[in-house]
Amino acid sequence: APQFVGYANLPNQVFRKAVKRGFDFTLMVVGQSGLGKSTLINSLFMSDIYEDSTYNGSGIRMPKTTQIRSSTVHVQEGGVHLELTVIDTPGFGDVVDNSQCWKPITEHVNSLFEEFLNAESRVIREAMEDRRVHVCLYFIAPTGHGLKQVDIEFMKELCEKVNVIPVIAKADTLTPEECSRFKKTIMNEIHENGIKIYQFPDSEGDEEEAAANKKLRDAIPFAVVGSNTVVEVSGKKVRGRLYPWGVAEVDNLSHCDFTTLRNMLVRTHMQDLKDVTDNVHYENYRCQKLAGFSG
Ligand code: GDP
Ligand code: MG
Repeated sequence: APQFVGYANLPNQVFRKAVKRGFDFTLMVVGQSGLGKSTLINSLFMSDIYEDSTYNGSGIRMPKTTQIRSSTVHVQEGGVHLELTVIDTPGFGDVVDNSQCWKPITEHVNSLFEEFLNAESRVIREAMEDRRVHVCLYFIAPTGHGLKQVDIEFMKELCEKVNVIPVIAKADTLTPEECSRFKKTIMNEIHENGIKIYQFPDSEGDEEEAAANKKLRDAIPFAVVGSNTVVEVSGKKVRGRLYPWGVAEVDNLSHCDFTTLRNMLVRTHMQDLKDVTDNVHYENYRCQKLAGFSG
């Protein structure tokens, strides 16, 4: 039977800024169905986000996601409390008409903003739970050809509401050359279409941080591989996907950007993602809402 890898060893730095009050963080995944969204969030954060009963014999099949589904897990690490919510969404592409297929998702983001707005008027802000969506991973099919029209329209809509980070799904199906060419094509299309994805901050003054941010900028869209099974590579147990010609290792930096993505999410950029959500996306929502109220 396959072993499932938990998410037990969060680095302590994650919590530096939130040692006292704990951390609320919400991540959403969006994209065409079958691209590995459910598998990746399981690999990223915890195997137990889906109950064991949802796995079949081979251990890697996820149930088809048919509705927007939130799962919250509490992680206690070094005495610090992290409340992590993952929002899994049904993939589009299963219906003929995909126009406006982002609607249920942007409406869900809005409803969480609205909840926050209502709570804000009732309680002291510092003591509030923050259930807003802080980051959205947008999954791009590993075709090698570029974005689909639906990707362009979907990301355009999402970018107005949340921090969008594009990822190339199932990167193990591309050669490294194909992958880096594909990344360039995608970034060109993102710029040409005026899609405002999450920007890694400019770290003025801190050279080390600036270099790290440049590296992240260059790696976008992150090429990811998801798997919840453990395979053996020269005597070592690693998370990966087994092929006749070898193993695509999830946590190996030279195989894909999985570790880079996970580190930036939970370690280096969690606070910035929360800040941008609050200062930009939530503010936009609030202003539109208030403008609406006053006519
Ligand atoms: P979702 O519909 O986007 O949630 O996709 P799922 O997570 O349900 O995965 C769909 C299928 O793709 C499953 O059979 C997975 O085992 C497989 N899969 C998931 N991640 C990867 C990956 O990184 N590489 C490859 N080759 N297959 C994957
Ligand atoms: Mg799914």
